[in-house]
Amino acid sequence: MTAASSRHFMMALHDISPATWEDYRPFVEEMDARDVRMTWLVVPDFHHRSPTFEDPKFLALLESRLARGDELALHGFYHCDDGPAPRSAREYFMRRLYTYEGEFYGLDHSSAKARLEEGISLFERQGWPLHGFVAPAWLMSQATRHTLSHLPLRYTTDTKGFYHLPHFEHVPVPTLCWSARAKWRRGMSYVVNTLSERRYSKGQALRLGLHPVDMRHDMSRRYWLDAVERLQQQGFTSMTKYGWLSAQQQTAQS
Ligand SMILES: [Zn+2]
Repeated sequence: MTAASSRHFMMALHDISPATWEDYRPFVEEMDARDVRMTWLVVPDFHHRSPTFEDPKFLALLESRLARGDELALHGFYHCDDGPAPRSAREYFMRRLYTYEGEFYGLDHSSAKARLEEGISLFERQGWPLHGFVAPAWLMSQATRHTLSHLPLRYTTDTKGFYHLPHFEHVPVPTLCWSARAKWRRGMSYVVNTLSERRYSKGQALRLGLHPVDMRHDMSRRYWLDAVERLQQQGFTSMTKYGWLSAQQQTAQS
């Protein structure tokens, strides 16, 4: 790797499913024009109403992304928290007030195992390589973490960075992420992300975590387009998450 190309950003498109594709489409076209590599976080059945692996056209689209050099990763199974009701104040906060999307936050060992294995086998049936699992809302129960360390996956992530599997060695990489649901949140996200970007772009690597709702609002969509342009101007190149992690490991071993 040359010095000029040693700074990287990793873009992840969260919540990929047939139901969210129309939100992303124009943005992805813009990223393609800029030759940006992306990691697509695929949800097998988004909110129990968008079965990704039963949609041949959408599967063909994802397949074409692999051919392009993008990465497909597993992102939950249903992406909604449909477990038994919260049992404590902390659980209530995390699973009802903070987010309703923390599918793997409350799961016990057998449910986590069943959903992860089903997700892995859906990828296998397509013949797609699978290295990464990202929990919805980056939230995982202890049982989920335990299950992950017994499955043939190479990494998982949370807001703080990567974890190599099976032993969860932490590789800190900061991430930019919006909360674009409400107008006041977008205003705050703009400020937080602008400051964070300035700080993180002094480093060697950062992650961009995008959500379908970001695409529905001009402020957030514009921000991401401009951020990519700024990073590219500063000499950052894009990589998939797994591509970057593998490159790091190779550098460490050589
Ligand atoms: Zn998600």
